[in-house]
Amino acid sequence: MAIKTSEEYIQSLREMDIKVYMFGELVENPVDHPIIRPSLNSVAMTYDLANQEEYKDIMTTKSHLTGEPINRFCHIHQSTDDLMKKIKMQRLLGQKTASCFQRCVGMDAFNAIYSTTYEMDQEYGTDYFERFKKYLLYVQENDLTIDGAMTDPKGDRSLSPSQQEDADLYLRITEVREDGIVVKGAKAHQTGSVNSHEHLVMPTIALKDADKDYAVSFAIPSDAEGIFMIYGRQSCDTRKLEEGADIDLGNSTFGGQEALVIFDDVFIPNERVFMCKEAKYAGMMVERFAGYHRQSYACKVGVGDVLIGAAALAADYNGVPRASHIKDKLIEMTHLNETLWAGAVACSAEGSETASGNYLIDLLLANVSKQNVTRFPYQIARYAEDIAGGLMVTMPSEEDFRHPEVGKYVEKYLVGAKGTSTENRMRVLRLIENITLGSAAVGYLTESMHGAGSPQAQRIMISRQGNLDAKKEMARKIAKVDTSKDK
Ligand SMILES: Cc1cc2nc3c(=O)[nH]c(=O)nc-3n(C[C@H](O)[C@H](O)[C@H](O)COP(=O)(O)OP(=O)(O)OC[C@H]3O[C@@H](n4cnc5c(N)ncnc54)[C@H](O)[C@@H]3O)c2cc1C
Repeated sequence: MAIKTSEEYIQSLREMDIKVYMFGELVENPVDHPIIRPSLNSVAMTYDLANQEEYKDIMTTKSHLTGEPINRFCHIHQSTDDLMKKIKMQRLLGQKTASCFQRCVGMDAFNAIYSTTYEMDQEYGTDYFERFKKYLLYVQENDLTIDGAMTDPKGDRSLSPSQQEDADLYLRITEVREDGIVVKGAKAHQTGSVNSHEHLVMPTIALKDADKDYAVSFAIPSDAEGIFMIYGRQSCDTRKLEEGADIDLGNSTFGGQEALVIFDDVFIPNERVFMCKEAKYAGMMVERFAGYHRQSYACKVGVGDVLIGAAALAADYNGVPRASHIKDKLIEMTHLNETLWAGAVACSAEGSETASGNYLIDLLLANVSKQNVTRFPYQIARYAEDIAGGLMVTMPSEEDFRHPEVGKYVEKYLVGAKGTSTENRMRVLRLIENITLGSAAVGYLTESMHGAGSPQAQRIMISRQGNLDAKKEMARKIAKVDTSKDK
């Protein structure tokens, strides 16, 4: 079945034996664990929407390999129209989940590895591209969720991988056998790893020949021998363990997820190896993945839509929707959010074909766009907190609200505008708390800062792609500069 339902997706995860530790214990049933389940629901939404007629055009497409219908998350972009539909899909999912839905990293890895393996094969006569296409076919036919695993733990950031005191601080090849390779190391901050069928690994930085053991890309099932995960804590995560805390959660249905993934001497068969020591191409793979993934932050625009809506509702409950400064703040939030959208649209519309035939976003615009993403959600969050008022962080729990004795006081004193419900006001304020300070802030704020590379990583790319020499030449022409006089 090429397009799975969410039930089939969840069932397929149940059939796996993914090893994940949380709070020092091996989780017996990750699928139904109350801390994990909301993040699984977010991924499940990528399956649900693909099965709804009104979203089919955005959420699904035809495989360029088979012509069969597939979920867009498994697609290799064939045009700028595909790049545009990708970001529309991401904004839509941000709106539907108000959290990180985790499936983008895999899609971005597919597209980066696809074009990089093609170009590697041209130079070295290897067959990585054919291997990768076969793997992709398997992913598309089974509608799999894949974790795009790039970031290594990195130890001392001033040292290269081979200079680290502990050689495992970057994931590396420890053995090359006739039938495959053995790898050791870890990948940090892995989004959706426990909810993913497979991990698709890439190097984390451009590499020199001295670091060629670290130039490795491969795919491996998440429950393969030697792989285990340690779950990442999020702000307010244990609220999910409490009974009767639906209001307190702000968003009890959806969430995001990250984990530290350990690869403890894992064997990878040759047919799943897509780079093996070709250090020269690590930089290309990283740059392309980062470019696609910086475009992917269109998802934050969707979460921003929800946050702007919540701020506007908070103003309604507070009885101040017509105050001029509130209206102006909502306008500014919209302006910032749509500026993010404009960046995502621009880098998609200006995409171009790679040698392999797939489409790459405009790298300069993708980096400019992501640089804005490292700033604007923080400003939008600040306006939301301003409009919400202090109650979003001082209000009593749902248990107090439902309490037979004190509940009536919560109801009486937390009421807002005439005729409005106290409970609804609490729900909206908790949603704002969830996105700006709670577990969803991981996705909306810190992921906006560091995900797909910290701000400086984009500035390096902007300086490389900015073509300053051409700009100097333009200025010389206009100013009639005679360069012979400068000598
Ligand atoms: C919520 C979240 C989800 C993520 N999901 C994924 C995922 O699914 N897959 C994945 O592969 N990665 C993922 N990442 C990882 C993300 O790409 C990294 O966080 C990012 O690349 C920054 O790396 P770091 O966190 O190790 O920060 P650091 O590298 O420690 O950076 C901290 C600061 O140090 C600076 N710095 C670092 N190195 C140097 C240097 N050599 N010289 C000068 N300054 C330096 C940085 O610019 C930054 O200011 C995720 C991250 C987050 C926060």
